[in-house]
Amino acid sequence: MAETLGFIGLGNMGQAIASNLLAAGYGLRVYNRTASKTAPLAGKGVYVAKSAAEVASPGGIVLTMVADDHALEQVCLAHGSFVEKLGPGGIHTSLSTIAPATARRLSEHHAKHNVQYVASPVFGRPEAAAAKKLWIATSGPAAAKKRSQPIFDAIGQGVVEFGEDPGAANVVKLCGNLLIFATIDALAEAMVLAEKSGIGMKSLAEIVGKFSPLHASYANIIAEQKFEPAGFPVLLGLKDINLVLRTAAESATPLPLASLLHDHLLSAVAKKRENLDWSAVALGIAEDAGLKPSLQSKVAG
Ligand code: NAP
Repeated sequence: MAETLGFIGLGNMGQAIASNLLAAGYGLRVYNRTASKTAPLAGKGVYVAKSAAEVASPGGIVLTMVADDHALEQVCLAHGSFVEKLGPGGIHTSLSTIAPATARRLSEHHAKHNVQYVASPVFGRPEAAAAKKLWIATSGPAAAKKRSQPIFDAIGQGVVEFGEDPGAANVVKLCGNLLIFATIDALAEAMVLAEKSGIGMKSLAEIVGKFSPLHASYANIIAEQKFEPAGFPVLLGLKDINLVLRTAAESATPLPLASLLHDHLLSAVAKKRENLDWSAVALGIAEDAGLKPSLQSKVAG
């Protein structure tokens, strides 16, 4: 049997990833802030820890899949944290989408405890995670990445390496999400144009869906107005575009398109759509084109 791993963060992504690790034969010690989310794994031989620190064993591996920079810093930097418990020879493999600067800070912090930090943000929505179809971008110390490789094999379809800089993989992840969201936003505009031209969103989705799996997935969500349950909600999208803009500002890189995308997501939040899928920006684009009230069915309040 493979070694026992610690796993922190059983949200939409973490739940699916932890299940695949279990299926691959790993032992698991899991922690989630909201204890009820551990229920699907409890009873399958998984140890449910009462604290984040409790998932770690000296020299072992802990994976985290928490929401954002703040959450990750909270679980890593607390006194007596899992990082301290991992100690010499330990590895923290961080799957969240966070700022490159945070990854570098955490890597320095971990080094004080002789723990290696491996940045491993993932591409793919919860359905892809469940199907072991994630793509993983990774950066950090070579030996730690090598030791993490069988774990990556158990949760994804492939890994692309970006060297030793712990922030590099997160830069890549942010670039990827900028590209994906730009595609969604353009798709939403095209769908609205099709609707106003009498072609209809579903007809356009049929041909646009042939372009790529990304187009197929989002064209269908927009055409069907299936923004719930959200695979990737507006709030997480806004978090990521904020990270993109913050990272760009650090190197004086103007990104006018990212600023526009940011405002589309912010507008969705202002309209109480923060928990809808991030492709719900299409609702705002439709409203701007005077498409009411049929496309307003998802407007809260
Ligand atoms: P999610 O369903 O909202 O889950 C977030 C997880 O973080 C939950 O386990 C939550 O615990 C935990 N958490 C939040 N704040 C915390 C804190 N202060 N202390 C401890 N735990 C905390 O989000 P997700 O969709 O799984 O996404 C997780 C990460 O993956 C994010 O960085 C996201 O950007 C990235 N990602 C998501 C997707 C996607 O399509 N969803 C794809 C690729 C990457 P509770 O249960 O207690 O709230």
